[in-house]
Amino acid sequence: MDPFVFQETADIPIFIIKEWEERFPSLRVGFSARKKGEDADCRNYALHVGNNGAQVIENRRKLAEFVDFSLSDWTCAEQVHHTRIAFAQDHDRGRGKKDRKTAFQNTDGLFSYRSNMLLASYYADCVPLYFYASDIGHYGVAHAGWKGTVQQIGPKMIQKLQERGARIEHIFVAVGPSIGPCCYEVDHHVIHPLKRVLNNQMQLDRVAMSHTPAKWHLDLKEANASLLKNIGVKEQNVLQSNWCTSCDVNYFYSHRRDGGNTGRMVAWIGKKGD
Ligand SMILES: [Zn+2]
Repeated sequence: MDPFVFQETADIPIFIIKEWEERFPSLRVGFSARKKGEDADCRNYALHVGNNGAQVIENRRKLAEFVDFSLSDWTCAEQVHHTRIAFAQDHDRGRGKKDRKTAFQNTDGLFSYRSNMLLASYYADCVPLYFYASDIGHYGVAHAGWKGTVQQIGPKMIQKLQERGARIEHIFVAVGPSIGPCCYEVDHHVIHPLKRVLNNQMQLDRVAMSHTPAKWHLDLKEANASLLKNIGVKEQNVLQSNWCTSCDVNYFYSHRRDGGNTGRMVAWIGKKGD
């Protein structure tokens, strides 16, 4: 079974990482879904796309409350396909919840240890990476498109957690729904930099399958998982989703499939506490 388990109650379709929520009862962690037949604004969680900001904020409020938080806990960044990672402190709670200008700027990764903060980031094909350092109670989320992947935003998040005192064997990672190798064709602009960061040709062959000259089907989820395992994240601590945001049209928006004009899902992680 996929680690991202679909559930639809209270009219809010979501995936949750059930295994983490059962193992770490204070964690709330998941990925939003759309509903079949609805238009792109209905389940859009990002303010930089679509025409209905009020709907986005209402979607955020409903989802936050559904997972035991409130809209004022919703904390997010303006993502730019780079690798800046910010540490969210108490006074950052709620940044970006209703507008773009108060969000963390130029930031693709967020982490925190504070309770009652919900870190959110937005997707339509890129890979959501979730982190939990169980020994120090820090959690994080990072946005990895191909650029973030080859610039190693995943390993950079691990480094941030280690600087806070986490030990690698206590770090858990989940690689969420994204476009799959079935639907993601790339050329040498992507493959060459990827080759430089992976360990060897065998690893590259596993994540990128060449099918016609100079074209590859890239498994961006596998690439991220490989980069994290290469720096010592334990195999058994890595969960990897098989959902493809392009194939699974009933659940997801897809930038590539929908020709760039579509909504965004949200990946969230937060910790409940006193
Ligand atoms: Zn696919």
